[in-house]
Amino acid sequence: MQFFWVNQSKFKIEKELGVIRADTRDSEHHARIRIFEVRKGDVIFSFSKAGFQAVLVAEENADESNKNCAVACTYYTFESSFDLDATVQLVQEHLQGLYSPVDSEGNRNQGYLYPINEKAALTLLYLCGLEVESQDTKTESEKTYPPRKETSVSRIIRNTKISKNVKDIYENSCQVCGIQLTISNGPYSEGAHIIPLGQPYNGPDEESNILCLCPNHHVLLDGFAFSIAEDGELIGLEGHLNISKKHKISEKSLEWHKMMYNKAIKSDS
Ligand SMILES: [Zn+2]
Repeated sequence: MQFFWVNQSKFKIEKELGVIRADTRDSEHHARIRIFEVRKGDVIFSFSKAGFQAVLVAEENADESNKNCAVACTYYTFESSFDLDATVQLVQEHLQGLYSPVDSEGNRNQGYLYPINEKAALTLLYLCGLEVESQDTKTESEKTYPPRKETSVSRIIRNTKISKNVKDIYENSCQVCGIQLTISNGPYSEGAHIIPLGQPYNGPDEESNILCLCPNHHVLLDGFAFSIAEDGELIGLEGHLNISKKHKISEKSLEWHKMMYNKAIKSDS
């Protein structure tokens, strides 16, 4: 999977069409050459003069027979864009090399799709509260003919806002032990997925599959050191899960976790 920085001057039009495209007829133009490097699952950070405005995920491999030089993308936009200078300052140290969106002075270079490294990408994702999950789609790429040389890897972007909603319900108190940790920038808790996200379990990124836990109980939950009955009674630990009326927990998720816990106990003995 690759990460790109795109200076997108026709953002509105391209967003409406759900694409990025190299808007030029010049076959030697760098934008046109670059766009054919885009592969399904690539993550593209969209910038304008105003700032960092969206994250895009490519939904297909670029196709050189496409006369419009367009690649279908899913757009993840923010309520307002992030200030360009402030954003550049955060990632500048990771944006080095001959072909970079920003020069050593912090000035933006003129260009279309700049490949950027993972460190810069993770910083940008962190800034906008998004995360990337990996998913192997090898079988899909095998179906396409002629087969591509690259292994096509798709990534799902999830919004940490869903976890935040759950943490807000409990005001960052652990649903197991009730502890509310405070660090320098405020209270700290973790959004723990009952069925983990991504491969191989592909748990849903929904409030009903998320608990608000302290780091210790998060690790213990993920490691099946305890589990939770449907009525919230803890299994393998004393006590009862604190469940708010505002938080509906998926019975399916709990059932799955209990099944895994029972398996873990069996393999222990
Ligand atoms: Zn706890």
